[in-house]
Amino acid sequence: MKAVLFYAPKVIKLVDVPTPEPGPGEVLLKISAALTCGTDFKAYRQGHHMLGTPPSPFGHEFAGVIAAVGKNVSKFKSGDRVVAANSAPCEGCFYCERGQTQLCDDLKLHNGGYAEYNLVPAPIVKHNLYKLPDNLGFSEAALGDPLACAIHAVDVVRAHEGETAAIIGAGSMSLLLLQALRARGVRVLVVGRSKANLDIASAAGADTVISTENAEPIAAIKRLTDGRGADCVFEAVGTAKTWQMAVELTRKGGRVCLFGGCASGTMVPIDTHRIHYSQITLHGVFHHTPKYFKAAVDLLASSRVKTGLLIEGRIALDEVPSFFHERHGQSNRKFAVIP
Ligand SMILES: [Zn+2]
Ligand SMILES: [Zn+2]
Repeated sequence: MKAVLFYAPKVIKLVDVPTPEPGPGEVLLKISAALTCGTDFKAYRQGHHMLGTPPSPFGHEFAGVIAAVGKNVSKFKSGDRVVAANSAPCEGCFYCERGQTQLCDDLKLHNGGYAEYNLVPAPIVKHNLYKLPDNLGFSEAALGDPLACAIHAVDVVRAHEGETAAIIGAGSMSLLLLQALRARGVRVLVVGRSKANLDIASAAGADTVISTENAEPIAAIKRLTDGRGADCVFEAVGTAKTWQMAVELTRKGGRVCLFGGCASGTMVPIDTHRIHYSQITLHGVFHHTPKYFKAAVDLLASSRVKTGLLIEGRIALDEVPSFFHERHGQSNRKFAVIP
């Protein structure tokens, strides 16, 4: 089969590899669509510890049709249309026992979406593989992973109907947070820089978009919230400056979700006076759990997510290396890779 493998930062290649055969509990998936993701671009630029020893399978958001099942697989059969999450609980560690499976001591992020076939490991088949309803396409279903992260963030912060949330950033993750918040009836204000991205955020359901080119975001958010600040703020950029801004945009008693991962070693000075006397709660949120992945697939199946705005276009598998080479420096919306 053809597969794109990661060899080193800025070196990925389309190569021929043996098509795997499913062992006990495993499923062989014929991939119908995989989505590009900001994490893949970051890994392309600088490598990623979760990719393991190169050459490594690459791409982690994908959906397809089951081509073969291993022994002891009873829930699925050949021909089933499915989406797989890129991780599963180990069932044995302190965190998995407490339901915090995203913090699993043995968390393995499964890759290999940019290929003709993917061998889905037994723990994912057991905990995190879902059949698709007929109305849900493969590219849309592959949004399950990033949407699950967004639903997780919204749930941790307990954003609810009648509240106003601010999102800092207008990239793909911001659009997914926006969908998760709109599904809960939350009013959403998006702060961003790129006019093109803010226009998409408006079309995707943001109540108001604020361009940092034209307005001072703290004053703008206060003006839109009777001078208080937002009930909850989601930082979806991943810089020290925007982490600080997130605290400033929040009202007294509000909650902040620090969602954008900063470069390792980043330190952020925070106004302790404000955190303490205004009783602001800071949440770090990472990844998702089977509960949130299932919720994401259900939300996608409900047709309430504006998937057309989230996926910019499609490319073929053999275009992946040149696509990453040309686009890794830009802020891209998602592309569907169709093998
Ligand atoms: Zn991703
Ligand atoms: Zn575990």
